[in-house]
Amino acid sequence: MDLTSYTKEELENLIVEELGDKKFRAGQVYEWIHKKHVTSYDEMHNVPKALKEKLECVVPMNSPEIITFQESKIDGTRKYLYKLYDNQVIESVFMRYKHGNSVCISSQVGCRMGCRFCASTLDGLVRNLTAGEMLMQVYGIERHTGERVSNVVVMGTGEPLDNYDNLVKFVKMLSDEDGTNISQRNITVSTCGLVPKIDELADEDLQITLALSLHASNQEKRESLMPIAKKYDIHEAVDACRRYFDKTGRRISFEYSLVSGRNDTAEDAAELSKLIKGINCHVNLIPVNPIKERDYEAPDRAAVIDFKERLEKNGINVTIRREMGRDIDGACGQLRKKYMSKVGEEDEDSRTDG
Ligand code: SAH
Repeated sequence: MDLTSYTKEELENLIVEELGDKKFRAGQVYEWIHKKHVTSYDEMHNVPKALKEKLECVVPMNSPEIITFQESKIDGTRKYLYKLYDNQVIESVFMRYKHGNSVCISSQVGCRMGCRFCASTLDGLVRNLTAGEMLMQVYGIERHTGERVSNVVVMGTGEPLDNYDNLVKFVKMLSDEDGTNISQRNITVSTCGLVPKIDELADEDLQITLALSLHASNQEKRESLMPIAKKYDIHEAVDACRRYFDKTGRRISFEYSLVSGRNDTAEDAAELSKLIKGINCHVNLIPVNPIKERDYEAPDRAAVIDFKERLEKNGINVTIRREMGRDIDGACGQLRKKYMSKVGEEDEDSRTDG
């Protein structure tokens, strides 16, 4: 385990029980990481060198390192690429809204869910991220921008509920008063619909928002876009959201990426309205961000607005997601993919040279 994934209790256990040092040292180390956001043992100035050396021998810090970032000229959105200790690369996004700054983090390296329109899943799953690797995406951006982050969405690469234990640990640590203390009400976890895990999450006694990536109004269409629908059908997924609301009182978000000619017709809007009728929810419409590997296209603006109005007529709360950073490979996994293929080409070049 990396040091940044240790809860306060786990750190106390390590420092007192295993290394025979004093309990308050654990508090100091925890504060350096989760309040002051340092990335190395060196920076923990009030921790004795001997303890730092002992700690370093038993547990590495493994801080992700920012290797590059791009800033949108349109809206100031920034995409960061982080390199992990094992040279894997992940993306995180920083967005400025009127109500505060938001960070979108990755929960896995790659993804095995196979959604047809998504770039993150094209090469499958490499590995889960640790709780610390998720936290450090937020801390690193706060450090780099010098700005406070108030909202975190787990909507980057990966399926968070496919990395369940680390995800729950991450949420608890991110909202810890002794840490960076981001309110659970400002944390959103988005899932493609792993039904048993949605039920487990509902029992965790958290105040986070659950977003379900719905993307279709009926089972047949959803299956054609999202393989996970073959395992848990659309009604099971929507029912799990009803139960999540009943248990937590938290309004559900439904994500709906509009794909021209596939899920954006008047019939789709009617069917969708019926499907989610009676759920305290909010629908987020996102014109699909086309990826070059697939021929999905976004509907034009008028069609998006028409779809929105049809839902609204049925009493549904709807927003059209502002398309942040379109000029900087905004869609899930695209920047990473571009970076990886560039590195791949360089490797090939050096092989031919060598
Ligand atoms: N696995 C989780 C979270 C990651 S994806 C989930 O499925 O919810 C975050 C959101 O972006 C999901 O709603 C996903 O379906 C959507 N998405 C992925 N690629 C997209 C694209 N090219 N255009 C529009 N939305 C996309």
